[in-house]
Amino acid sequence: MQKITFAKGDGIGPEIMDATLAVLKAANARIEWEEIKVGEKVYLSGNTSGIDKSAWDSIRKNKIFLKAPITTPQGGGYKSLNVTMRKTLGLYSNVRPCKSFYPYVQTKHPEMDVVIIRENEEDLYAGIEHQQTDEVVQCLKLITRPGCEKIVRYAFEYAKLYKRKKVSCFTKDNIMKHTDGLFHRVFKEIAVEYPDIESDNWIIDIGAARLADTPELFDVVVMPNLYGDIVSNITAQISGSIGLAGTANVGATCSMFEAIHGSAPDIAGKDIANPSGLLRAAVMMLNQIGQQDIAEVVKNAWSCAIEEGIHTKDIYTEGISTQLFGTRAFTEAIIARLGQKPKRLRMAEYAKDVKLNIPTYKRRKKSKKVLKGVDVFVDWAGADSNVLATRLKKLNSDIKLSMITNRGVKVWPEGFEETFCTDHWRCRFEVENGHPAAQTSIPELLGKALLEEVEVIKTENLYEFDGERGYSLGQGQ
Ligand code: NAD
Repeated sequence: MQKITFAKGDGIGPEIMDATLAVLKAANARIEWEEIKVGEKVYLSGNTSGIDKSAWDSIRKNKIFLKAPITTPQGGGYKSLNVTMRKTLGLYSNVRPCKSFYPYVQTKHPEMDVVIIRENEEDLYAGIEHQQTDEVVQCLKLITRPGCEKIVRYAFEYAKLYKRKKVSCFTKDNIMKHTDGLFHRVFKEIAVEYPDIESDNWIIDIGAARLADTPELFDVVVMPNLYGDIVSNITAQISGSIGLAGTANVGATCSMFEAIHGSAPDIAGKDIANPSGLLRAAVMMLNQIGQQDIAEVVKNAWSCAIEEGIHTKDIYTEGISTQLFGTRAFTEAIIARLGQKPKRLRMAEYAKDVKLNIPTYKRRKKSKKVLKGVDVFVDWAGADSNVLATRLKKLNSDIKLSMITNRGVKVWPEGFEETFCTDHWRCRFEVENGHPAAQTSIPELLGKALLEEVEVIKTENLYEFDGERGYSLGQGQ
């Protein structure tokens, strides 16, 4: 018996969780269930995280969590429980298989069978945001080498384990050469360790367009957090319905399984929700806990119901569906088919006693890091960058003003008058002679800025790592 934590969530959550638990119990899953409360009621009781200590204790003790969708109240500073869970528990990999069940579920892509593997902890989801001037807010995009190595390795190990042929990488490294560039570089490094698995790289915009148009081109696709969030929803939707897809959030010690859709308050309590997303997440969970026998029985029974045309409202199609069932009747139909094998949809056969081999991260030898200057961000409501430059040159020392940009575009020296400028200026001070900058240069510069009444809102040090520039040039530089 394996102890598993579950939460019924909000909206349609209790209905689809009851359905999923009923199927798993009828299939004799070897599970002892422990319920926790998370979500709207916890938020509204004054807990802005949506989860209390006893719930955390249960998840950390049992290590496996089956979660129904929850409602995050609008406004009021409530933090997304999903993001908190993923990051606090180190659930670095978000796995979303998106397969079509044509002709039983309508889709323009009968052959699609794609698995999106989304990095789950980093990127813009670090949630580090600041307002810096009247006109400018920023969100930090953090990409780390350990984060990239873990998720890319996970994608290749997943492909190996499930006999997938290809892993594709989606990034925007033509623009974000350092952040997305690192993700792509790590992808190339790890791909060579898997010569039997094909690999390719796509710029996210064209990659996503091709994925939406011709998903048969893709097999396993790995990408940073934000792109993965968007692309996996599109991929689930074009496979037939967002109500069908489940997702696994996997970490080194804990895992959380859920449907990809939300709490659907518009249909809550009406007995019409499709429980398939959560049920298919539960099938992924059964596989992870080594109950492949139960996973196969459940998946096959579900496939039998679907191919017989027993459908919930979201996937019901005249001429294809034979019966329109509510949540409870659909659940009963699956239970009645436990032990049966699908005749046309692919039979579930899951490999037993298998584990993904994800080595612990080994930090590399520290590189030689040399200070070359600093980017000083200034709040200034003026318009003429020459005026700002004249003031800033008074801050020169061994590091000298070399460039001013506004929203990344060079406006000094020799900017264009067509370039729109806001009140947020990035002013670059660099060494001119190739020597390292003195460690005291930056505090001295900030001291002079104070005297000159230049309003510094933040600084970013400019470093070389083993002789390679660790910062981007300004556009037009
Ligand atoms: P949603 O996914 O809940 O609903 C979008 C549409 O899809 C609705 O019309 C809904 O009726 C339909 N739908 C969703 N699941 C369905 C199912 N199983 N069967 C049939 N139809 C289904 O998205 P939303 O309306 O944008 O969000 C509602 C709430 O859910 C929000 O509070 C949001 O924060 C939350 N949410 C939670 C999670 C989660 O807990 N994992 C994920 C996304 C959104």
